[in-house]
Amino acid sequence: MLFDTHVHLNDEQYDQDLKEVIQNALNTGVEKMVVVGFDRPTITKAMALIEEYDFLYASIGWHPVDAIDMTENDLQWIEELSSHPKVVALGEMGLDYHWDKSPKDIQKEVFRKQIRLAKKVNLPIIIHNREATQDIVEILKEEKASEVGGIMHCFSGSVDTAKECINMNFFISLGGPVTFKNAKKPKEVAKEIPLNHLLIETDCPYLAPHPYRGKRNEPAYVKLVAEQIAEIKEITYEEVVAHTYQNAKRLFGIN
Ligand SMILES: [Zn+2]
Repeated sequence: MLFDTHVHLNDEQYDQDLKEVIQNALNTGVEKMVVVGFDRPTITKAMALIEEYDFLYASIGWHPVDAIDMTENDLQWIEELSSHPKVVALGEMGLDYHWDKSPKDIQKEVFRKQIRLAKKVNLPIIIHNREATQDIVEILKEEKASEVGGIMHCFSGSVDTAKECINMNFFISLGGPVTFKNAKKPKEVAKEIPLNHLLIETDCPYLAPHPYRGKRNEPAYVKLVAEQIAEIKEITYEEVVAHTYQNAKRLFGIN
């Protein structure tokens, strides 16, 4: 039973064939998925999807790239939706220094506000980090995010950073990049970090694993991520699947 902890089935790239994509996932052994919404349209769609499919859950938040657009109303709306029993986390939230649409100070403020909200409603958080590791770790510490914990989504940092995040009660989630031939760091993290701190994800439609790199990703391919981790750790595929599934259920409070 695979648990894909990060999917964007609410992306318009699935408008034409969502049912088939979901069926593919089920046929491959994907049993649960968390649909991530990060702005008004994608959150609205995520909420509709969790009503339609019992194996789908939602995580809702505001993306750092669009931090400049988030209003107090938006935050209030996220808080209201977070009481839905199938909203299992807040995010993705974090910092993204690759794009400069939102200034860094605004990104940081919006990130802090969402961490505070997560503590208020007692939900774990899903972290998006692009070229901002140091500032993210600092803010997580200052805001005492360890009280709720969460996920370092599509982790691409070093083993040392991974350990620092684990100490703050975060899981390390690996996605498609761990299967890329030149992805040194994710492979090291897969090797060094114990299974009880790891999760798997696709981040579909982005970051499709080898041999689909560059194509549209889908949840069925999370199997390739699990297979790669098994190979790197020299353990069975079943072991990777069982552990990551239990980790995700525990984190999200799913029975
Ligand atoms: Zn994402």
